[in-house]
Amino acid sequence: MSERYDLHCHSFFSDGTFSPKDLIVEAKRVGLKGLSITDHDTVCAYNEALFDFAEKKGVYLLVGIELSCVFDHKSVHVLGYGIDYKNESFLKYLQVVQRNRKKRNDQILQKLHDRKIKIDDSDFDVSEDRSFIIGRPHIAAAMIKKGYVSNMQEAFDLYLKDRACCYVEGNKSSVYEGIEQIQLAGGKAVLAHPHFYQKSIWISKLLSCPFDGVEGYYGKMLPIREQKWVQIGMERGWIVTGGSDFHGSIKPHIQLGCSWVGKEIIKALESKGKKALDSGSKTDIEE
Ligand code: AMP
Ligand code: ZN
Ligand code: FE
Ligand code: FE
Repeated sequence: MSERYDLHCHSFFSDGTFSPKDLIVEAKRVGLKGLSITDHDTVCAYNEALFDFAEKKGVYLLVGIELSCVFDHKSVHVLGYGIDYKNESFLKYLQVVQRNRKKRNDQILQKLHDRKIKIDDSDFDVSEDRSFIIGRPHIAAAMIKKGYVSNMQEAFDLYLKDRACCYVEGNKSSVYEGIEQIQLAGGKAVLAHPHFYQKSIWISKLLSCPFDGVEGYYGKMLPIREQKWVQIGMERGWIVTGGSDFHGSIKPHIQLGCSWVGKEIIKALESKGKKALDSGSKTDIEE
């Protein structure tokens, strides 16, 4: 069996429910050779103790992040791999991103309040010792807990999804800035889960941004939908990454390791500079 690496999952430092150590334990349990924890807008999961823990468990750990960006008024997630998680200017950039996120969350809560849905910071299911990134899934969970909606999807569909009545875009950084910040911190910038976008002029413009890679393999996406993106990535000489987007019990239908890539992708992500990669996909695509 080839070595499998899941390059997209979330810990409780953003909107996952597992601790970083528990993600490593779970990775081992499901037979992964390695993983990248890609929390939204934070690298808080990473420290030397975590790398020591991963090494003891025999699990390879690649530094990762998922930045919330915007391109032409549409939300785009940019994955960053192999960044220096101690890089000062990157950490400063993240502080600004986190402040803007807090402002955006407050505006969402205000809009909910205007509709008699009363949620505040004390309703979020977080403990003091975690430096949290609060996101829409936390708001949705609080709405379920207080009985305003019956499940996560209802909260998103009725109130929180992009362009719903209580959605606020907030002051997100542009895709260009996200890519640049990742690359300046020594990382590779990868367009996350492009499968959700329809063919359009918007997507053609997005694909002209200087990404190093694209997330071709994603969660439980149908292989036929993945292949299109694997091919687009390979045509551009991009690194084709993949991962589950595991969030723990917030999205119980997604298991860690349900999507993965091989070792050659790790090597490409670790390489210095804009090195293109033309192999390593799980599916053979004719050029
Ligand atoms: P935020 O970063 O606070 O804008 O929240 C983004 C997260 O919300 C994503 O990573 C998903 O986990 C979740 N999310 C976004 N849109 C939807 C949707 N339509 N249905 C369910 N979950 C969603
Ligand atoms: Zn998430
Ligand atoms: Fe995402
Ligand atoms: Fe994600």
